[in-house]
Amino acid sequence: MPVYYVRYKGKKKRRKRRAFFLTFALACMGLSFVMAISMAKNSDSTASIKAHAIGQPLPLVSIQRLEHPLVYINVPVGENDSWKVRKNKLELSLSHEEASAAFPSEGHIDQNISFRREEGVVVLELELENLPPIFHFEKTETGYVIKWLDSGLAGKRIAIDPGHGGHDPGAEGRFIGLKEKNITLAIALELQEMLEKAGAEVFMTRSTDTLVDTTLQPGRHIRPDLWMRHDLVSDYSPDFFISIHNNSWSDTYARGLETYYNPMSLNGYHSKAAAKLVQDQLVAEIQRYSRGTKYKPKSDAVLQVDAPAVLAEILFISNKEEEAMLASPDFPGRAAKALYKGIAAYFLDYGGE
Ligand SMILES: [Zn+2]
Repeated sequence: MPVYYVRYKGKKKRRKRRAFFLTFALACMGLSFVMAISMAKNSDSTASIKAHAIGQPLPLVSIQRLEHPLVYINVPVGENDSWKVRKNKLELSLSHEEASAAFPSEGHIDQNISFRREEGVVVLELELENLPPIFHFEKTETGYVIKWLDSGLAGKRIAIDPGHGGHDPGAEGRFIGLKEKNITLAIALELQEMLEKAGAEVFMTRSTDTLVDTTLQPGRHIRPDLWMRHDLVSDYSPDFFISIHNNSWSDTYARGLETYYNPMSLNGYHSKAAAKLVQDQLVAEIQRYSRGTKYKPKSDAVLQVDAPAVLAEILFISNKEEEAMLASPDFPGRAAKALYKGIAAYFLDYGGE
C-alpha cells in the first residue's frame, strides 16, 4: 500500500487540509477494513495505510489484522483533539483548543470493540467474528464519526428520491407518451412499502406528483430542486440513499440499465459497492442489457450527499421496447423488488422477500 505525504503550508489552510486529509484517510481505512474482513478467514496478511504529514504530528490511520479474529485500527489523535466513544460510534473532534486531559485511556465501545489510548493514537480492537462489516463515516461540526451498523434492514434509515415531479416531467416517451416522473414515483412508493415492511425507516423526497422545490417556476432549470433534494436528504442523515430515474437518449436504439455513484463522497467506497449490488439485482430481475455501474463525481447534486448513495437509471423511456416494458402495470413492483434486494444485500440481509 502506498504512503501518502501531505505538505501543510499556512496555518489558515491547515485545518482545511487536515479535514480533507482525514476524509481521505478514513476512506482508505474503509477500504482496508473491508479488505481485512475479506481476508480474515484465509490469510494472515496485514493491511495498513500510513500517512505522514511533514512538520506535523503523524496523522496516522492504520488497520492491522494481527491474529484472526482481532483487527486493530489506529486512529490519529493530536494533542488538542478530542474523542468520545459512544455505543457503536467513535467520534473524533478535531482542532479543539481545550486540553485533552479528560480522554479515557482504555475501555469498551461494545462487547466486540475495545479501545486504548497510546501515544498520538487511539487503538481500536475489533472482534471480527461477531462484528458486522458495515460501518459508515459521518461528519460532525468538528470532526468525524465512525459508526458501526448492525446487519439487516430493520431500523435502518433509508432515503428515497423519485426523480422529477410536478411541472418537470423528466424524460418523455415518444411512442406511448410515458412520463418519467410518474414511473419513478410508482417505483419509489413500492420500494418504500417493501422497506418499511422489513422494519426500515423511510424518508421520501416526494410522495406525490410535485417538485420538491415547489417555488420553482416552470421553464427554470431544475438545479435548485436537485439541491433541495440533496439538502433534505443530508438533514435526514440516512444510512442509505437511492435516487430513481429512467434514462433517455436522442438515439432510440439506446437501451438498458445503469447505476451511478459518486466515489468522491464521504462514503464513496460504500456507494461504489452499493451501486454494484443494486445494478446486479436490476439486471437479474428486469433481464435487460447491463450498462454497468458508473462514476458521477461532480455533475449530480443528489449524489453529493455524505451517505452511501446510488442513482439508478432504470431502462430508456426513449426506447420503444423499453417504454412498453415501463408501461406494464407490474413493472414498478418488479423494479422496486430489484432495488429492495440490492439494498438488502448491502445491509447483509438475505432473509427478506
Ligand atoms: Zn431523470
